[in-house]
Amino acid sequence: MCSERKSETERKRGKLIVVSGFSGAGKGTLMKGLLEAYPGQYVLSVSVTTRSPRDGEVDGVNYYFKTQEEFDRLISEDYFIEYARYVGNSYGTPGPLVEQNLEAGRNVILEIELQGALIVREKCPDARLIFVTTKDADTLIDRLTGRGTETEESIRKRLTQAVREADGVEHYNYILINDDLNGSIRRLHEAIQSPEDSASSKQDLAIICSIQSELKRRLSI
Ligand code: ADP
Ligand code: 5GP
Repeated sequence: MCSERKSETERKRGKLIVVSGFSGAGKGTLMKGLLEAYPGQYVLSVSVTTRSPRDGEVDGVNYYFKTQEEFDRLISEDYFIEYARYVGNSYGTPGPLVEQNLEAGRNVILEIELQGALIVREKCPDARLIFVTTKDADTLIDRLTGRGTETEESIRKRLTQAVREADGVEHYNYILINDDLNGSIRRLHEAIQSPEDSASSKQDLAIICSIQSELKRRLSI
């Protein structure tokens, strides 16, 4: 899907942006804020998932909610750019819609987890990969718990997954500490627009390491 050809049309394609991060770090909130703050500048890809809708989630808006059988059929039809398992469910990015938007010159954001992000990076080396985190483990746990959408078991699994995801942070172009929401939305926009690869600072990497060790300690893993 990401041709290397540099034709006139190719140069006008939209940017592909991947946003990942710990569950509860605030990715969904940031996406909503980004779309509202910069209307018309971004399109958020709607993924397919086999997980059940949360209260208030709408089919076709937050996700396309499918059974595992339907999901497997879409895999066999080569419908996804990437797909992955996450905490017992399948998630995938629909290829045709993303391609149409990029082709039309729109900047497309994929809010996906690490395994999917790495597949996108392979297929589209120009994609910008951004990793969202809280400033510390306490804030992450508070947000994930405070959201009120997960069972205790799901929280534990998501935090265990966060420990694994922390190891993949080196693959990302930019680490975004989601502290003050409006400031974070602005920095996210700037990180996407910046033509330079803003390598993650040592301080940001240290934050990820510290969250990882604290979660390991709390989960006794
Ligand atoms: P994710 O999509 O990364 O799992 P959410 O966007 O659902 O995370 O956010 C988790 C919780 O944290 C939500 O209750 C949300 O309102 C809250 N939240 C998100 N960003 C911030 C922020 N910058 N400051 C305070 N609370 C936040
Ligand atoms: P949630 O269940 O909290 O909505 O999402 C769980 C995880 O799945 C999050 O890290 C989210 O970014 C990721 N995710 C959502 N859609 C996709 C997708 O299409 N592909 C992949 N690989 N991950 C996704």
